[in-house]
Amino acid sequence: MNILFIYPKYPDTFWSFSNVLKFVRKKAAFPPLGLLTISSMLPKEWSKKLVDINVNELKNEDINWADMIFISGMIVQKDSIRDIIKKCNGKKIVGGGPVFTTGHEKFEGVDHFILNEAEITLPLFLKDLEEGKLKKIYTSEEKPDVTKTPIPDWNLIDFKDYSTMAIQYSRGCPFNCEFCDIIIMNGRVPRTKTPEQLMNELDSLKDAGYKGSIFIVDDNFIGNKKNVKEMLRRLIKWQKKNKHNFKFLTEASVNLADDEELLSLMSVANFDKVFLGFETPSNESLKECKKLQNVNKDLVAGVRKINQYGMQVMGGFIVGFDNDGEDIFDIQIKFIQEIGVVTAMVGVLTALPQTRLWYRLKAEERLLKDSTGGNTDGDLNFIPKMNKKKLMDGYSRLVNTIYSRKNYYERIDTFLKNYTPTSKSKASMDEFHAFISSLWRIGIISKARFYYWRLILKTSIFKIRSLPTAIELAIIGMHFEKVSRKI
Ligand code: SF4
Repeated sequence: MNILFIYPKYPDTFWSFSNVLKFVRKKAAFPPLGLLTISSMLPKEWSKKLVDINVNELKNEDINWADMIFISGMIVQKDSIRDIIKKCNGKKIVGGGPVFTTGHEKFEGVDHFILNEAEITLPLFLKDLEEGKLKKIYTSEEKPDVTKTPIPDWNLIDFKDYSTMAIQYSRGCPFNCEFCDIIIMNGRVPRTKTPEQLMNELDSLKDAGYKGSIFIVDDNFIGNKKNVKEMLRRLIKWQKKNKHNFKFLTEASVNLADDEELLSLMSVANFDKVFLGFETPSNESLKECKKLQNVNKDLVAGVRKINQYGMQVMGGFIVGFDNDGEDIFDIQIKFIQEIGVVTAMVGVLTALPQTRLWYRLKAEERLLKDSTGGNTDGDLNFIPKMNKKKLMDGYSRLVNTIYSRKNYYERIDTFLKNYTPTSKSKASMDEFHAFISSLWRIGIISKARFYYWRLILKTSIFKIRSLPTAIELAIIGMHFEKVSRKI
């Protein structure tokens, strides 16, 4: 059996990092971890091939080779998914992953859907395939034990194409934010892999020749603090033995800042970035969306503390809550500048399918259309309480203000003042290339050159160890500025 995995194209969003990739000579930011893991769950004797459209073109010869085509992706990739389905017309197509799990009925031309978590539903599909009685939909509410999840099939990708590898340690998050679809798919009881299992995954990456950044793509890395601490102790030993082969980034909830033991373990294990969902400084809006873990928290102090443990904080921010007044845009600008989160992903609230927000807005007859899934593209899929034009104009002003060169570089200053780099990894050739490339692209031909040189000089004199981070942020700033201009 010949299986072709196809990963759809990402549109140009804050998360695509498309304008950064040319600096580091890469084609995409992250590999399609879901498909690589599915590959390891299929019979060994089957032939498998992957076309990640963010990296390579989908050719007719690949489609003709395949007996079956597996597509996976997120809502934000749905336009590309429809193009792929059209192009593969006549072949047996199997769809799985988040986009199909929360909205398979919106896709025509897919023969079989393997929904929810594949550890449960894929074996059901394979059994029926063997018995020649395939059904249209395979689904289950059962949450699998991720300690049985196999190591991703790294053979399907070329590491050189990606700036960062991806692995998963846990699924699920104990919190209950109204707009979140992760807890709808993965549940509220965090399920973790064993420390040994994760070390085996790292060994597999190292043995395949990879070194560099790894994104631990968990819903909330610290969802089960006891287990994560145990795993981190093992990871520290692994890193020491392997000369700090990897540096890590992940996603967590803001209560990370309350736990110094956890911060210290992450820092020693060589975590250098963490994404946190701040959403809004308005307590009323936080209570509205049930992000109660952020209410009455000193988020500025929290970020400073994380920075002192050698981790840069990336953050998610949202406007468009029912409790947001017209002053929310200025409040958010002030908050983002003060907190010093340089890479701030600001979006308009969106109602993702099956979330509690989606059901509430539906009951209130305020839903307008499907979400694009790209919550930073300025799309609005519900009737807001605020006048729609004021919301969209305010959003555009907010994004363009925080990504003006002056404000962006001011945030880098705020961040660097509080940042104590602790990374033990040596700079890679790609990072060196990015630096050389930035000298020309930002230092000479870009309008940001004044800010760039001032940053380089100041950091070289006062905070030399932070220089690689400062250069990285200057490069990322080019991407964020370009994306924000489109909003
Ligand atoms: S903390 Fe993050 S992952 Fe957890 S429920 Fe809230 S938005 Fe979802």
